[in-house]
Amino acid sequence: MSLKKTIEIDIVKVPSSKIESIDFENLAFGNVFTDHMFYCDCIDDVWQKPQIVPYEPFLLDPSAKVFHYGQAIFEGMKAYKDENDAVWLFRPDQNFERFNHSAKRMAMPEVPEAIFMEGLKVIVDMERNWVKKGIGNTLYIRPFMIATGTGVIAAPSNQYRFMIILSPAKSYYSGEVKVIIADHYSRAANGGIGAAKAAGNYSAQFYPTKLANEKGYQQIIWTDDASHTKLEEAGTMNVFFRINDTLYTAPTSERILDGVTRKSIIDLAKKEGFKVAVQSVLVSELVAASKNGSLKEIFGTGTAAVVNPIVGFSFEDIYYELPTIENSVALQLKEKLTKIQYKLEEDTFEWTVKV
Ligand SMILES: *Cc1c(COP(=O)(O)O)cnc(C)c1O
Repeated sequence: MSLKKTIEIDIVKVPSSKIESIDFENLAFGNVFTDHMFYCDCIDDVWQKPQIVPYEPFLLDPSAKVFHYGQAIFEGMKAYKDENDAVWLFRPDQNFERFNHSAKRMAMPEVPEAIFMEGLKVIVDMERNWVKKGIGNTLYIRPFMIATGTGVIAAPSNQYRFMIILSPAKSYYSGEVKVIIADHYSRAANGGIGAAKAAGNYSAQFYPTKLANEKGYQQIIWTDDASHTKLEEAGTMNVFFRINDTLYTAPTSERILDGVTRKSIIDLAKKEGFKVAVQSVLVSELVAASKNGSLKEIFGTGTAAVVNPIVGFSFEDIYYELPTIENSVALQLKEKLTKIQYKLEEDTFEWTVKV
């Protein structure tokens, strides 16, 4: 796949980069941003000329619709540097498609492919010094779109801003993750916005996650909203269960986000000869599998952490600890995927795209 140059961008560069002042060895995830940001406004369905300007705050009217009605969507992706200083993106076409799927669901305009892809390529290229070599170093990319039109009447905005900001990141290790299985709160419902990467899905999770944190759990495993019997996602990650030697993950639906890492792990696991079943696991099946010893692993998948092993889960106030195992499938798949992303292993799927 190649990225075609089809748009013109106005570029204003910073007088001098702040990169020398950044401690790349001690980066907290998502706190430091690069020198520049990309944006493109859409006014009455007409996309304006894209801009790259110094990273800085910008003004919005207090009645901007994003503040009142939550028209806000985003993506999360990463750039990687290989041993020869080339910079690579991972499946950006998937993020682009999902972005516009989210836009549609939130009654926002779809971003033209040239603006998304070319904007991405040009800004990442400009900031390539911020992508450090070596496994674990990445540039986290955050495309997002907000409703900037004014007026508190409850209707879709007539004005939007699409932006891309970039944050250098170290590999994300969240320590031992214990999860609690949701039996009351829901992340998403049929007919809702769970399949969109909408800001509101995250704010909806904060309170129940805070309650889980207070009980000593880092994340919640979300279940279906109607019956709380089917296991769906782990926090803001897709979730896999290894029962005996089969990896189970729920099919995507209106309640489950179609993760790029999830689908890549499915393809990779199949290629590596693991059995994969895309089918829902019931809470009762998980508890039974834990009791009879057939439950070997649980792990979340997402761009930030790639693969995040889970050490145990709580259901109805009983804690079920997972066995410690050698040759964890989660870690094998994480290593394989990471090597593809850093161009240390052949990319037979053609997932990586050079900037
Ligand atoms: C972003 C996200 C994921 C992971 O998607 P990736 O494309 O793998 O990063 C999973 N679940 C939810 C709810 C998400 O918002």
